[in-house]
Amino acid sequence: MIRPTPHVVAMSPYSLAELNAPAGKRLISLSQNESLRQPSPQVDDAVANAVANAHLYPDPEWAGLRNELAALHRIPASAILCGNGSMELIACLTQTYCDEQGAVLAPAHAYPFFLTATELTRARYDAAPEEGVTASVDALLAAVQPDTRIVFIANPGNPTGTRIPRAELVRLREGLRGDILLVVDEAYGEFADHLGEPVFDLVGRGDTVILRTFSKAYGLAGMRVGWGLFPESIAGEVRKVMNPNNISAAGQAAAAAALSDQAYMRETCAITARLRDGFLHRLREAGFDVAESFTNFALIRFDDARAAQQADAALRAEGVVTRAQSGAGLSDCLRVTVGTAEELNFAASLLEHWAMGGKA
Ligand SMILES: *Cc1c(COP(=O)(O)O)cnc(C)c1O
Repeated sequence: MIRPTPHVVAMSPYSLAELNAPAGKRLISLSQNESLRQPSPQVDDAVANAVANAHLYPDPEWAGLRNELAALHRIPASAILCGNGSMELIACLTQTYCDEQGAVLAPAHAYPFFLTATELTRARYDAAPEEGVTASVDALLAAVQPDTRIVFIANPGNPTGTRIPRAELVRLREGLRGDILLVVDEAYGEFADHLGEPVFDLVGRGDTVILRTFSKAYGLAGMRVGWGLFPESIAGEVRKVMNPNNISAAGQAAAAAALSDQAYMRETCAITARLRDGFLHRLREAGFDVAESFTNFALIRFDDARAAQQADAALRAEGVVTRAQSGAGLSDCLRVTVGTAEELNFAASLLEHWAMGGKA
């Protein structure tokens, strides 16, 4: 018998929503926070060109993509690392800075992959209470332990959709010991850019990393491209644990092309925000408890876990798949990705029907 290590045996698999619809129903997936529309048309040509050279390994320095990111965000190209999705960067950060002698700290309703990435390193994972579904800087600072190595915070958060202002992030950073790495995951950053609170400058302190991704606002979830701004010494160490050929040539080309079409990305954000706010308004009118969202999804809080399961079942019966949230300590919640107007309209009417007692 081939035996895995007891550590891996004890881990539970990373769970995603099951994507299937009952017989005869069309599947409408509102479960993975994918963009509601395809990527910029400019991506097509870029990918076709990359495929023509697919017999060659991709650029291990991501030069084209890095230079575009640097120019757009006015940051040094040398401080950027690109990942096979930002998930790769998260996993490489925990691998580089944690082992069984350390701990990772995150808000209670954090992105579940922070936990998975921590478990892989055998470090302990600590969770700090939130204020409702908003991260609390006071609670995070109070939860720091002598062996805390990394604090992860997604801002805006997933699955909560809420955010804390820049001043609070700065207060968090200034309240943490200098030997604790702060990782700010801005996977939904583009949806909050209009607030004008960039935090890239925190990286200059040498103890903070900012992550972003092409999977959400840029509509490239299937291409697997994330990136981050790293202090130089941290980038050098993280690089060692990364796959040297991590992003396919098609992925790099697609991301660079999507980046160069800022107007398209901004339009995606505007369409998404308009549909999201309409959906939130409609659900509130119907009596649902929905959190304010700075992202491309909505978090609905039900009376209890049973009610959330019933609503989930009512949606699934019609082919609409949302994301249950027990993994993030919110078993009374469902997270609904902002889909097209038609998809959201359908989901909202099913929820209204369910709330009116169509539960039976
Ligand atoms: C979607 C998401 C990611 C994953 O991004 P990839 O770049 O697709 O790996 C990372 N962090 C948060 C908070 C997310 O919601």
